[in-house]
Amino acid sequence: MRSPKVRSPHHPLRVGRSRTGLGLYAVESIPKGDFIIQYWGKMLTAEKGDELDNKYLFEINSKWTIDGASRRNIARYANHSCRPNAESDVKRDGRVIILAKKNIKPGDEITYDYGENYFEAFIEPLGCLCDKCIEKRAEKRKLARKKSVAKKARSARKADKAAAPKKRAKAKKAKARAKR
Ligand SMILES: [Zn+2]
Repeated sequence: MRSPKVRSPHHPLRVGRSRTGLGLYAVESIPKGDFIIQYWGKMLTAEKGDELDNKYLFEINSKWTIDGASRRNIARYANHSCRPNAESDVKRDGRVIILAKKNIKPGDEITYDYGENYFEAFIEPLGCLCDKCIEKRAEKRKLARKKSVAKKARSARKADKAAAPKKRAKAKKAKARAKR
């Protein structure tokens, strides 16, 4: 299998700051289904790929892996998302391309799903920072806050009840004192 050549994108792209460091951004609208960029790199046997320790390995199949660590591989800046607007596609000749999964607006960050294996190994342990996961966590916090407010209200009522007998006890003591 020969190494794929760099292909200039049909749509201009920009590398910019993102939540996770750097990200890949659309400069103009990209219609759904359009080619965005090729995931370019050295083609390695899966064995060789396993020996390498970098985050930019793209597993094509059980035999081949692309080492996309080169900075010339602009596609390496496209981050993972659990609600992506792009997707990767492996061509029969082993080329990996990124396509628009939705209509992408200018300025949108281009993201695709890195797949279960990558997610479990590199993203999940640190906590995914994609829009979907951030929304999910915010929703969870909101629920937890509601629950803790309800709990506080309940324990406040309990505390009132617990305090009530003491008051009565004090009143009794006062009465006793008054009798003496
Ligand atoms: Zn996510």
